[in-house]
Amino acid sequence: MSENNLQGRCLCGAVTVRATAVDHPPVGHGLGACHCGMCRRWTSSTFIEVSAARTSVEATGPVQTYKSSDWAERAFCGTCGSALWYLLTGEGMEAEPCQLSAGLFDNAADRDLTLEVYIDKKPAGYAFAGKRATMTEADILKMVGDDPEADA
Ligand SMILES: [Zn+2]
Ligand SMILES: [Zn+2]
Repeated sequence: MSENNLQGRCLCGAVTVRATAVDHPPVGHGLGACHCGMCRRWTSSTFIEVSAARTSVEATGPVQTYKSSDWAERAFCGTCGSALWYLLTGEGMEAEPCQLSAGLFDNAADRDLTLEVYIDKKPAGYAFAGKRATMTEADILKMVGDDPEADA
């Protein structure tokens, strides 16, 4: 199995996910981490994602989605609550990759962490070792064309 073929499951196993990982600038081939307040509520710490072509994502089982903002939805297992993916749903975002929860996949864990977003929202009490590209909330909001005063 090529390392771009992702095959994983949620905590309880009711949801299985297959997808094809893609390089996505500025994350590249690695993992991206989001420190925003919503991801921290969702996952307890940091949402670490592996980008996949959205048309490649095949999920089975009790997938539920929650529209968490005007431009994105989050999917989770309806049985165990595992975070499954974050998907940009706004206008013009149809080509953006699906950001799959890296923890679902045993073969995603060896990728390097290559991007941290909402770095200005990261709690001071912990940090990932090493250096990588970072983006602030203002950088992200500029990218999605939203009001910088809006909540993450
Ligand atoms: Zn589950
Ligand atoms: Zn986030």
